[in-house]
Amino acid sequence: MDGLSNSRVETAKVEVAACTRLLNHEGVLGYSGHVSQRLPDGETLLIQAFDASRNDLAPDDLYIIDLDGNVLDGNPNARPVNELEIHTEIMRVRPDINAVLHWHPEIATLFTMVEGVELVPMKNHAYRWSSGIPVHPESWHIDTQERGRAMAETMGEHNAVLLRAHGAVIGSESIPALMVDAVHFDENARALYDASRLGTPKPLSKLESDEFAANFKRTNHSVKLWRYYLSRGLEAAVIPDEWAELLSPDERA
Ligand SMILES: [Zn+2]
Repeated sequence: MDGLSNSRVETAKVEVAACTRLLNHEGVLGYSGHVSQRLPDGETLLIQAFDASRNDLAPDDLYIIDLDGNVLDGNPNARPVNELEIHTEIMRVRPDINAVLHWHPEIATLFTMVEGVELVPMKNHAYRWSSGIPVHPESWHIDTQERGRAMAETMGEHNAVLLRAHGAVIGSESIPALMVDAVHFDENARALYDASRLGTPKPLSKLESDEFAANFKRTNHSVKLWRYYLSRGLEAAVIPDEWAELLSPDERA
């Protein structure tokens, strides 16, 4: 934890708490699921307490843990989430990923429970998953280092992995990007589900996906949507006013 300034850790905590509240407010997260963020030292991360509410998660509900799951800081009267190995084992092998979301999306998870169908990119913003969305075959919670490693192996170089009969995991470079990827992941799963009811789905081709990716300004898009969701969260008092400045994309730039 050397080299971590208090203000950077406090800002990172507010980001994780805000992202969790916003995802809950937008109906992506529910009573379970969790967001993590790697801290600037690269070897520690923030993860929430097991039973802290996603509806009003506070910075004090977060733990600092290392990649072996050791708690370095946090409330001694509670404990981190059960499936923290989802986060630690991805961050161990994927230096490009600084923020991870695990959740239990209804529609995306259906694609782990039906023979012969695969969750594939349908909408242009799903280019993020054009290399594939593997399904990890184990349906039990990812609650040991061994299970976390096996899951991270299934994920490989992809940016998402589905967990059989359980849920999904995505990884992104930052908290705003994670928020936006989560929204697009759900949109894409719904698009495929709805399209399959209309007729034969026509997924995004590799060429379409590559062309979109080549011209897409990912950072600008993340900032735009983060600003949008933040504004909705502030208006609905999901996010306290005193967090607004810390979370503002203008402050982050
Ligand atoms: Zn889970």
